[in-house]
Amino acid sequence: MADTDEPMVVDGGSGRSCEWEGRWNHVKKFLERSGPFTHPDFEPSTESMQFLLETCKILVIGAGGLGCELLKDLALSGFRNIHVVDMDTIDVSNLNRQFLFRPKDIGRPKADVAADFINSRIPGCCVVPHFKKIQDLDETFYRQFHIIVCGLDSILARRWMNGMLLSLLAYDDGVLDPSSIIPLIDGGTEGFKGNARVILPGMTACIDCTLELYPPQINFPMCTIASMPRLPEHCVEYVRMLQWPKETPFGDGVVLDGDDPEHIQWVYQRSLERAAEFKITGVTYRLTQGVVKRIIPAVASTNAVIAAACATEVFKLATSAYIPLNNYMVFNDVDGLYTYTFEAERKEDCSACSQVPLDLHFSPTSKLQELLDFLTESASLQMKSPAITATVEGKNKTLYLQSVASIEQRTRPNLSKTLKDLGLSDGQELAVADVTTPQTMLFRLSFTL
Ligand SMILES: [Zn+2]
Repeated sequence: MADTDEPMVVDGGSGRSCEWEGRWNHVKKFLERSGPFTHPDFEPSTESMQFLLETCKILVIGAGGLGCELLKDLALSGFRNIHVVDMDTIDVSNLNRQFLFRPKDIGRPKADVAADFINSRIPGCCVVPHFKKIQDLDETFYRQFHIIVCGLDSILARRWMNGMLLSLLAYDDGVLDPSSIIPLIDGGTEGFKGNARVILPGMTACIDCTLELYPPQINFPMCTIASMPRLPEHCVEYVRMLQWPKETPFGDGVVLDGDDPEHIQWVYQRSLERAAEFKITGVTYRLTQGVVKRIIPAVASTNAVIAAACATEVFKLATSAYIPLNNYMVFNDVDGLYTYTFEAERKEDCSACSQVPLDLHFSPTSKLQELLDFLTESASLQMKSPAITATVEGKNKTLYLQSVASIEQRTRPNLSKTLKDLGLSDGQELAVADVTTPQTMLFRLSFTL
């Protein structure tokens, strides 16, 4: 690399050629010679490099903390056909770690600014931005990519993406057509913790197979907060939701600001009083701020590590030169540094990837509400607003649908009816649609006595 007179290029300027001597030497070292860690079937050649530079098409979901890192890592590894999807605009609080953005970019779409930055900085790289929700793009869009890599902070979006890739799979007589598989590399971070995983949809554990690893969103019922607090968090929530608006300690209409120490101090003191009243321990200033802000701080270095791991996996899959991660890596540097890789297993009855309708065991006298609660509360399903339909007496019938007000109103009485009264029978198929996936899920009603 250093044996050329060409100066190292850090800025792509106009008029500069897109290639220069030794430009990809760092990547070629992995592809044009064998080594102890290469894939057993790997044959060194110049073809993989050409594939990266000219053909391979990558989709990056998210242009935030992980997305910025991913785009930079991929572009510097030789990937040139990259699309990026992000629905957010740039906020001042992003600038400490989302290094493709500058103060002048505040308010502009992250996808657009990130793409512009990479394209002007890395000659020959073509990042195409999509300032959109992932749900606004369809299967023809997703099908065009060789590999999809996610840098998201939302489980819902991950599950939807997972569902989309599962819906693209083609089966011939129950046998999966390997050419229909688009690998999904998923990165996630939370403070000093992170994970990277490789998902081969239909072959290895999918996002929903391991849903139980993600704790459901904590939302305390109002009655608990108001009358039966058990946890220190309940006390803070009580002060935040009820006492603050009632007592308006900092004047009328002053919104509780999690970054204002005086506000937090006030909430902390009142929470302590509330906790003492119910003999609850554990209320601290830190906990108070954590509950009020409801955010997990983003750590730039964690994003960098996880994005690098994900980009490495994209590189391994795209070139077939190395054996990919199998299949779930966890990283933690809260205390020292810890990393561990394990093989997440497919769940035989995964509602997203198992291809068999799940059995729902209910008594004929159970109410539809109970079934609905199960779909949202079960740790392995965690649906958000399921819409349930069934074929009853040859007719397609919507049993309950929440997302359209008029239909919700019309179907609400069904919730208090029993399954039997709704005309449902043992073995009945129920079709359930939910925001967690683009596909309709099939369940089979199995009556218990
Ligand atoms: Zn699955």
